[in-house]
Amino acid sequence: MPLCKTNAVILGGRRFGDSSKIISAYTSEFGKVHLLAKGALAPKSKFLSALETFSESELIFYHKTTTELHLLSQATLLKSHLRLADKAEIFPYAAAACEITDEWIKGEDQNPAYFQLLTGFLNCLESATPQRTPFLFWLFVYYGASILGFRPNLEACFRCGKKENKKSYLFHPEKGGLVCAEDARESERYLKVSADLKNLAQTLAHSDFDSASNLEVPPKLVKELSEFLKDFLLVQGVWKQLPGSLALG
Ligand SMILES: [Zn+2]
Repeated sequence: MPLCKTNAVILGGRRFGDSSKIISAYTSEFGKVHLLAKGALAPKSKFLSALETFSESELIFYHKTTTELHLLSQATLLKSHLRLADKAEIFPYAAAACEITDEWIKGEDQNPAYFQLLTGFLNCLESATPQRTPFLFWLFVYYGASILGFRPNLEACFRCGKKENKKSYLFHPEKGGLVCAEDARESERYLKVSADLKNLAQTLAHSDFDSASNLEVPPKLVKELSEFLKDFLLVQGVWKQLPGSLALG
């Protein structure tokens, strides 16, 4: 039973027995893991703050090969992200990001890009205004889905490759691409995409979360981006249903 050390974001946890806790964590080296933290809820537990949801911590655990529940040995808090839990306007978005990660990531596969995105998003929220938070959240969703292989292509018609210049476009959610007027079919369902959203998506496709988080995007366009991503990811089967926290819009 090898002893492993890794940095992690705590996604959530639940009580187990009288004083223990089972936590779900997204780690930099093992993807998502479930850990049994014995005595974590005991009054003098030294783990407590390191195992709070949103905490970035260094974890040392026994990696079991016979079960998916590993045994935590040590946890050291690196960043608490306490502000996220305190701010009523920001908390639901941080919670949704952890919920989505828990839902999207199934196995223990290392994915440094996703780990960097998740920690980057939580750090960015620390200094974000409530007005800016929805945009940052949908950026997180866009880049998270992209890293996992679900990137909408809003550059050209997926059937003929033609690039058009119009006020609005048709997007085929199953194919994940635009379709031009000549190639549109009556039997297919499309999402309508504004020129502004197409331009934004093209900018995002050639950028990363850190640089895109500095973009100024009007609330109306953020709303369109969110509706677009929700529909696209539902059709793609990335979400079986929208995570509860997304009811916030
Ligand atoms: Zn076409």
